[in-house]
Amino acid sequence: MCGIVGYIGYRNAYDVIIKGLQRLEYRGYDSAGVVLFDGTQMQLCKTKGKVSDLQAKAAKEMNAVGTIGMGHTRWATHGVPNDVNSHPHYSNSGELAIIHNGIIENYEPLKKELINRGYVFKSDTDTEVLVNLIEDIQKTNQLKLGKAVQIALNQVVGAYAICVFDVKKPNEIIVARLGSPLAIGIGENEYFIASDASPFIEYTNNAIYLEDEEMAIVRLNKSMKIRKIKDDSLVVPYVQELQLNLEQIEKGGYDHFMLKEIHEQPAVIKDTYRGRLLSDKGIIKMAGVEDNLDKFTNAKRIVIVACGTSWHAGLVGEYLIEEFARIPVEVEYASEFRYRNPIINKDDVVIAISQSGETADTLAAIKLAKEKGAFVFGVCNVVGSSISRETHAGAYTHAGPEIGVASTKAFTTQITVLALIAFRLAKVKGTISQSDYLRNLLEMELIPSKIEEALKVDGHVIDIAAIYKDAPNCLYLGRGFNYPVAMEGALKLKEISYIHAEGYPAAEMKHGPIALIDEHMPVVVIAPKQNHYDKVVSNIQEIKARSGKIIAVVTKGDEQVRALADHVIEIPETTEALTPLLSTIPLQLLSYHIAVMRECNVDQPRNLAKSVTVE
Ligand code: GLU
Repeated sequence: MCGIVGYIGYRNAYDVIIKGLQRLEYRGYDSAGVVLFDGTQMQLCKTKGKVSDLQAKAAKEMNAVGTIGMGHTRWATHGVPNDVNSHPHYSNSGELAIIHNGIIENYEPLKKELINRGYVFKSDTDTEVLVNLIEDIQKTNQLKLGKAVQIALNQVVGAYAICVFDVKKPNEIIVARLGSPLAIGIGENEYFIASDASPFIEYTNNAIYLEDEEMAIVRLNKSMKIRKIKDDSLVVPYVQELQLNLEQIEKGGYDHFMLKEIHEQPAVIKDTYRGRLLSDKGIIKMAGVEDNLDKFTNAKRIVIVACGTSWHAGLVGEYLIEEFARIPVEVEYASEFRYRNPIINKDDVVIAISQSGETADTLAAIKLAKEKGAFVFGVCNVVGSSISRETHAGAYTHAGPEIGVASTKAFTTQITVLALIAFRLAKVKGTISQSDYLRNLLEMELIPSKIEEALKVDGHVIDIAAIYKDAPNCLYLGRGFNYPVAMEGALKLKEISYIHAEGYPAAEMKHGPIALIDEHMPVVVIAPKQNHYDKVVSNIQEIKARSGKIIAVVTKGDEQVRALADHVIEIPETTEALTPLLSTIPLQLLSYHIAVMRECNVDQPRNLAKSVTVE
């Protein structure tokens, strides 16, 4: 959460920063700000609102000159979104400026101490405490900025990615990270600093990703030194070549990133199984699984930890792994797992799922599982992310950058990876018949074209969306593999259209939610022609008997449900295990179109942000 951008070089810093902030706006968008050094002094402009509001304000208030500067797009944790709480923050002397992503947990005692020492605070943020702590250390001990930052960071508890600028040393920016991501793009006679590489992709392909507890002085005409914050030891910088391209982070003709990402699913699912799935030979090869096959096959239990949509993918993973590999699986919210002293044994395998690979709670859950001796396997989308480095082994989803805050293609590629793991383990354990195994592998290769087909229902979904766009509530029901899909469908609707929605196992409806059903309640039922079909049909009858409005997702050609439901949306037939990859498509489209019709900001829903790097 929060996007940070810094620039030092020869270009107009304002232009680089604003463009960069626009690309990072998915990380937070309640306020934005920029500070520039114009050659003699700092100029600050910040405002509640989006980057576009900042641009409007800056056009009136600031002379956007200078080749060094820093910008921020905020997702508030401490202090309401307003102009004052926006970043950057100045220190009391006005000599230091800071931008920060994260939370300084012990800001209160530090703030009290600083107040006793005469410091005055304008904002309610934890960040303003940090910049004044740095200033106090710098002034009291007559230290260079880098040293003062290091001492201050050794006193704070929490998470941060920071950039600090000192007007007295206007040729450098100090950066540091713990728990929040930070990349440094290396150009010729210029450096870029950002929460991810998207702000500098058109300028350079070379980047250093700072590791936790590292800091660097980014200074022109000097080789960059990276140090450990704790013991000051030097770290050899590892310069990575970026795999990102500009096209991947642009809308490509779609109205919203979410819609683009929904339509990318056939291609990215193929990218995810490419090289791993050789269906004609009946082979699944995933290096991270293969190298650790004994750990998986000897596991007494697999624990999946994740948050949000990734947690729903984890639930599908539970059904897949238990059904085929016959290994008991538990799926936990990472935020609960990390604080409840869970029982983890050395022969447990923990699978951590996160799109960004930076989710704070999932990272903490991984660390805890490792301390307890478990083997931890990561499933994430961002190459080089913290989770990919923190886990013993893993498999990337190759979904490409997901910018829409509501996750779509990350979900289906996560399921793809989990299905590959389940089938591989089942094969090696001998818990799947050869015919079932081959059928699923062959079907997996057909999924991209079947998603293409499923996407063709778009026009019909728009008609349904128009009917229900003003519904205050909506219920989503599914059974078996499609129960997590029902929950994911409900999450999509609530997060982007602000309609209250709940996902339930269809049979659970009788134990409570059925009381909500009347002629105003739309109920989305996932009813493919598979196991439990008759049971789901009975559930549909129960809804109909209470005048609920039924929107059913059915297998192509289904007549029985068509006769009962108010609307049906067809998906192609596939194996039961792979149905979630298809049944989720119309639900994504439905929430998208409802949100557009309600004039909601689809890519940047209120209160949310992507890449949840705070707990
Ligand atoms: N804690 C800081 C603030 O509220 C930064 C928040 C964040 O990184 O999301 O301003």
